[in-house]
Amino acid sequence: MPPGRELEGQRGEPTLKPPFPAVSGYMGKPSNVNNVETFANVPVIITKGAAWFSSIGTEKSKGTKVFALAGQINNVGLIEVPMGITLREIIYEIGGGIKNGRQFKAVQTGGPSGGCLTAKHLDTAIDYDSLVAAGSMMGSGGMVVMDETSCMPAIAKFYLEFTCEESCGKCSPCRIGNKRLCEILEKITDGRGTMEDLQELRNLAAVIKDTALCGLGQTSPNPVLSTLDNFWDEYVEHVVDKKCRAGVCKKLMSYVIDREKCIGCGKCAKGCPVEAISRTDYTAPGHKLASMVIDSTKCIKCGACINNCKFGAISIQ
Ligand code: SF4
Ligand code: SF4
Ligand code: SF4
Repeated sequence: MPPGRELEGQRGEPTLKPPFPAVSGYMGKPSNVNNVETFANVPVIITKGAAWFSSIGTEKSKGTKVFALAGQINNVGLIEVPMGITLREIIYEIGGGIKNGRQFKAVQTGGPSGGCLTAKHLDTAIDYDSLVAAGSMMGSGGMVVMDETSCMPAIAKFYLEFTCEESCGKCSPCRIGNKRLCEILEKITDGRGTMEDLQELRNLAAVIKDTALCGLGQTSPNPVLSTLDNFWDEYVEHVVDKKCRAGVCKKLMSYVIDREKCIGCGKCAKGCPVEAISRTDYTAPGHKLASMVIDSTKCIKCGACINNCKFGAISIQ
């Protein structure tokens, strides 16, 4: 470069020389930008002292934490708990257990980029480090409890769609990689996935985690990786057996009429928006019954027939 055409700083001199320009905050005043929850701790620490605050919690995570407890649980709402409390204590003692007597399946902590933990993590003492070690994080303090009616590949897709929306697009691992992850998850939940897709999902998620520029991209694959780790069988069922055990993935469901229970009243057929249900004669041992059948090629899986049948004759398989 001819002399005199260098940019400032290219001559080996520092660009900024003291005295440095003043850095000013909001409205030119000194500013402290922080999470509201962090600020909420300050008056209590000032009033009661750091020693008191440090006496609550664990060795490395002091004090309390606020969680937004939500999902398929009896008591939902904001809770403040000491660091080190277990997931079991939160879900069963504070949350009152799983709704409608169903079984606990998973708990997602940390907001959309958190991981899905399972029954083996229920006795984990929650703090910043233990959640990361379990494949999740404290994040924004979200805690969503799920029962057996949640489909884990669909849950991973749901959270990833959110991070795709939020991605600023600056780096390609997050901008493009997360879109590819979403496409693979869509294949899986539509029943078009393969075992190679599962491998691809794992590889790509690991690359995004390692190479994305900021925290959003680095944590966005957590729901995918944690569900692959903790609910592998469910992914395999989607790609090999073409089944969604939770009955969530519509394209993998079929509505079936139990001919032994059906009395042939015809109410289901009347309410079917696409005329997928027709009458047939069915000969059960010793009886000839009028029954109904569903044409799965016409059925759009709206669920109206299940609601219309008062005899419990229709189920999802
Ligand atoms: S990782 Fe961060 S910087 Fe990169 S695209 Fe995502 S949000 Fe933007
Ligand atoms: S509503 Fe139920 S009982 Fe009546 S015809 Fe349909 S499946 Fe059979
Ligand atoms: S699920 Fe809907 S579309 Fe399918 S058979 Fe029942 S009513 Fe008809």
